[in-house]
Amino acid sequence: MADKPLKDIKPKSTVTTTTPKTKPKATLTPLPLLGMEPKHLVADFRRNYNYRLGRDDQSQSPYYAYEALSFAINDRLIERWKKTHNAYGRKDCCKKAYYLSMEFLMGRTLSNAMLNLGVDDVAKKAMYNLGLEMEELLESEPDAGLGNGGLGRLAACFIDSCATLRLPVTGYGLRYEYGMFSQLVTNGEQVEQPDHWLRNGNIWELERPEYIQRIKFGGRTEIHTDEDGKTRVCWVDTHDILAVPFDTPIPGYRNGTVNTLRLWKAEATEEFDLQEFNAGDYAEAVAAKNSAENITMVLYPNDANENGKVLRLRQQYLLASASLQDVIGIWVSRHGNDFSEFAAKNCFQLNDTHPSIAVAELMRLLIDVHGLSWDDAWAITQNTMAYTNHTLLPEALERWSVNLFRQLLPRLMEIIFEINAHFLEEVSAHWPGDHERLARMSLVEEGHEQHFRMAYLAIVGSYSVNGVAELHSKLLQQGLFRDFYELWPQKFNNKTNGVTPRRWLAACNPELAELITETIGDGWITDLSLLKKLEPFAEDQAFRKRWQQVQENAKQRLVDYKKREHGIELNINALFDVQVKRIHEYKRQLLNVLHVIHLYDRIKRGDTANWTDRCVLIGGKAAPGYFMAKRIIKFINNVAHVINNDPDVGNKLKLVFLANYRVSAMERICPGADLSEQISTAGKEASGTGNMKFMMNGALTIGTLDGANIEIREEVGDDNFFLFGLTEDQVQELSHHYDPVSVIHQDEDLQRVINLIECGHFNQFEPGIFDIILDSLKNPHDPWMTIADFRSFVDAQKRVEVAFQDKDRWNRMSILNCAASGKFSTDRTINDYNNDIWKLTPVIVN
Ligand SMILES: *Cc1c(COP(=O)(O)O)cnc(C)c1O
Repeated sequence: MADKPLKDIKPKSTVTTTTPKTKPKATLTPLPLLGMEPKHLVADFRRNYNYRLGRDDQSQSPYYAYEALSFAINDRLIERWKKTHNAYGRKDCCKKAYYLSMEFLMGRTLSNAMLNLGVDDVAKKAMYNLGLEMEELLESEPDAGLGNGGLGRLAACFIDSCATLRLPVTGYGLRYEYGMFSQLVTNGEQVEQPDHWLRNGNIWELERPEYIQRIKFGGRTEIHTDEDGKTRVCWVDTHDILAVPFDTPIPGYRNGTVNTLRLWKAEATEEFDLQEFNAGDYAEAVAAKNSAENITMVLYPNDANENGKVLRLRQQYLLASASLQDVIGIWVSRHGNDFSEFAAKNCFQLNDTHPSIAVAELMRLLIDVHGLSWDDAWAITQNTMAYTNHTLLPEALERWSVNLFRQLLPRLMEIIFEINAHFLEEVSAHWPGDHERLARMSLVEEGHEQHFRMAYLAIVGSYSVNGVAELHSKLLQQGLFRDFYELWPQKFNNKTNGVTPRRWLAACNPELAELITETIGDGWITDLSLLKKLEPFAEDQAFRKRWQQVQENAKQRLVDYKKREHGIELNINALFDVQVKRIHEYKRQLLNVLHVIHLYDRIKRGDTANWTDRCVLIGGKAAPGYFMAKRIIKFINNVAHVINNDPDVGNKLKLVFLANYRVSAMERICPGADLSEQISTAGKEASGTGNMKFMMNGALTIGTLDGANIEIREEVGDDNFFLFGLTEDQVQELSHHYDPVSVIHQDEDLQRVINLIECGHFNQFEPGIFDIILDSLKNPHDPWMTIADFRSFVDAQKRVEVAFQDKDRWNRMSILNCAASGKFSTDRTINDYNNDIWKLTPVIVN
């Protein structure tokens, strides 16, 4: 619902009973406000159910009930959406920010929309009056899984906070036809199933054909001289496609603000068809249409890994070009070709390097389309773009072949070369004669084939570069981007990630939310630092008892869910030890499994004095092309099979792989967890946000000094955090002389664990399948150093058990964790972005 008013849309005809002399003025809007009481929702629900959906009493599926209620809620969002839009328009062109992201991992919409509108209780009552169970209805909504993991979920939490903070921020992304695949597990192995999430339609989106943008691909460039004697570059003979926007309303928390998430869908142009059709080949014409529409067909399921596919570059350019043209189009409609104030009124935040081609595209639009000089365009670009880095892993750094650019985006290639020429002049001036540095910093990586370094393009084109946790930002400045930091220290800053407390506490854990509100009031929902007020209650025996009861109820709901969905029986008295996140070697699910095997070995050898029953839950998707990650899933499942079927083990230990981990699964999992596993190799996890969701819900963390774990421990204090493992410095140092085999020989427990794996105990009829796991663990060049942290991890797990056996102590620690989680709200994160980078003024709606 960005920027043009709707008033120019007029009715085709006006129907009246008598024919008046003069045509009456169309009065399509406004309507009286929609009611917010149960009776209003019931009436709207019935109307939607009967007429919009054409259902009758024969319909048993809760899906239609979900849709009927959603239509009623969506109508109420749209009312506020229009008001917000008008309020932003009235504020004579207030500054706006745009969050450009290839991923928005939104999850479900209905329960969050009801919470933010303040009709959650009312709607529950309304459904109850209709004989419907809200829980069941909410469960039938499919997840909008347009993201891989942390990066995409962060974008979703950010736009929730922007709306809650009344900031004029629009999210721009892609409307993938197929989102993140759904994961089946057969014979212990991941099987991917396509996620056709739009199959039953999507009631939350509104197609906006009036804002279609045209996107160029291919062709070549020509130089012309215009009337004023200026040289102009034309990008010609292109194969164009259309980008069609679909808008989703993003409500703030009970503040009347409803912002916009605008997702682009690729479509063929009419001429594209015609061109082929005139040549007489109908089939080719249809095929060409498909190849245009394929661009937004599927989300690439790689997390923290680039894969260099042409289609992915097309997606990235589509996002950048469509979004920039959209914003510039609105600008030009108000200011003509006067861009002097553009940078003061607009800011683009790039979520990782995925949309970094926007730097070159903004230059192209300003120079080629709007006639600005290079210097003017560059000044605007450099004052408009801001870049967030999300990882230090070399395998995730995007580099695109220059030859690919030459074919697909020839004009963009020229512009990047020119940006580089100007930039290298600046480097030369700063470090005369330092040719090595020049080669290191060049946007073009030389070699067998030339590549563009997209992170460098993003840094050079931006006025702000940020990491996502203190340690990560420090490592960027000292390592990966050191040269750039030395050149432009003022560009670099940190913005520690967060999660939205609306979804990740208020909505997903209503019972805990109610206890908190009853104790300290409800201000925490929009000012999470107020959770600090819970701290004194950690010493209150009666409060601790209630806290424990609420935690146990959440565990029971998780148990019921596992039973219902997967037929798995969990022991509620056990310690729920949870690691859910993408499967990746750096996240070290393997370290977790080594510990589980060690516990199993202790049971088998009768070392069970003072035993703590434990239920280890591991979940996550592997990138379909990441062989090692898929083998780790197989390993987890095989170990689980052996342990769970061993009568000697019984209730003492369970290992369960949670299939198809996703946002809606996490909403059940994080309230029911006792222990949160955040065990990445120090220096490898940029921030993590799963760690924050668990903490907020009262789970205790066992973790390394990595990413935001460091800040979590700072906030809650060392006494309430189970720390283990090498520090980032120690990892660096040890990498020069790491000898895992000798570590194994010196640790009897570890030796026994390795022996069990080596002797085929977990792959009796599948010889050799875990050899690659053993090889990687024993490799002196193992970058993840799993073996190095085994002993420290086992010792920390023993401290966990001691704490868990003392229920009073555990409850106290749980309360203190929740009380100390205030920093990790995206409201705090977004305030930091706004104060340091965007500088937007909040706009009050109504
Ligand atoms: C929060 C979240 C993540 C990120 O988890 P990390 O532990 O930070 O990697 C990934 N996927 C989903 C579905 C999430 O909700």
